[in-house]
Amino acid sequence: MDTDLTEPDRPRPAAADEGSAFGPVGVVGAGAMGAGIAQVAATAGHAVVLVDALPGAAAGAVERIGAAVSRLVEKGRLPADEANAVLARITPAESLHDLPSCGLVIEAVPEDLDLKRRIFAELADRQPSTTVLATNTSSIDIDDIAADVADPERVLGLHFFNPPPVMKLVEVVHGERTAQAYVEHATALMTSWGKTPVRCSSTPGFIVNRVARPFYGEAQRIVESGVADAATVDWILRERGGFPMGPLELTDFIGQDVNLAVGTSVWEQTGRDERYTPTTFQQDLVSAGRLGRKSGRGVYTYAADGSVDGPEPDVELAERLVGGPVATDPLARTLAMIVNEAVDLVARGEASPDDVDTAMRLGTRYPKGPLAWGREIGFDVVARQLAELDEAYPGGRYRPSPALTDGSLT
Ligand code: NAD
Repeated sequence: MDTDLTEPDRPRPAAADEGSAFGPVGVVGAGAMGAGIAQVAATAGHAVVLVDALPGAAAGAVERIGAAVSRLVEKGRLPADEANAVLARITPAESLHDLPSCGLVIEAVPEDLDLKRRIFAELADRQPSTTVLATNTSSIDIDDIAADVADPERVLGLHFFNPPPVMKLVEVVHGERTAQAYVEHATALMTSWGKTPVRCSSTPGFIVNRVARPFYGEAQRIVESGVADAATVDWILRERGGFPMGPLELTDFIGQDVNLAVGTSVWEQTGRDERYTPTTFQQDLVSAGRLGRKSGRGVYTYAADGSVDGPEPDVELAERLVGGPVATDPLARTLAMIVNEAVDLVARGEASPDDVDTAMRLGTRYPKGPLAWGREIGFDVVARQLAELDEAYPGGRYRPSPALTDGSLT
């Protein structure tokens, strides 16, 4: 239940527009995400203290940020004096003891619940009661991270996408006990940093990592069942669906192990819902060390220059499959499942339709938001397609969300 911060005597989040009263932004963890987030906060004008427990790591991250802002200067995207000012705002540190009182602390240490829980308990102890405590977790429940925080209403997720300076989307994630005032405050702050915030509950996978599951899962099942090969499925989703990358080439890019870990985490957190069951296809790739581009081989095999060394798509087959029976149409089948996932999320009140559409367009560069797409296809058509799929492949994966047909989403 959200707590109302309009009650007297409750601490209020420090407001960014109070200028220096907001205090610096603390970033804990100076890896890929923490360094990027520090750059974003400093570019927005905040003094930033960037902490990493590994000796020298935060200083190294500041050097990397220096190189990144220099590249922006070279490309004419940032004036040289502003680049120097951004860099001067970031102070590296090696312990939470070195963090001054902050308006906001964003944690970006590895995805390990015990580690994050310990850091939040320490932050809550050391930081003023008005400091917003945020985690950049991609998959862990916000309430679990806040378990040892005495005042969990100030704990929330700020899920940036990689790389943070480039990606506009930030999922502002509220736990069961996060207060609405902090959510609003964090949302406004992200807007002031030039980001596009969307809000959602701490549901497994949040918006993007949840709604995207069938994009990968359907393609893997289609290839697994021999309906079409990977190159043909990727071609269909790119050329007929308008997706920037096909699902199989995208999982090679992300890393099959990373993609499998996210999918498995959503599956486990939803009580092993059949909708998210990992495929044997992907598990076999990972067991065989075929992790994608980074290992030179995944779904595809890559030459030393990064080019794909593999079969051409069978365009004739692709043209026959698209518009045919939904069970063997990679595009219709994938879209029906993405729409179903999005509808279900909205129907359960986890996120608004607009936020789901925005998140998928910005977080995964889908050509259309899934709700808008569902409206275009017709929610009743999607429901019929899912019923057909359920008949062809029984077991619960294709069960339609009741909201597809109850008229609530017209
Ligand atoms: P990373 O491994 O690159 O960086 C983590 C950093 O945390 C390391 O530099 C490590 O030394 C430091 N660290 C470890 N323990 C610490 C401690 N006790 N105190 C301070 N620093 C400590 O990880 P990353 O890819 O930047 O991911 C960080 C978080 O962001 C994770 O929760 C991850 O799920 C999430 N995330 C990652 C991505 C991505 O694409 N990499 C995208 C969105 C969210």
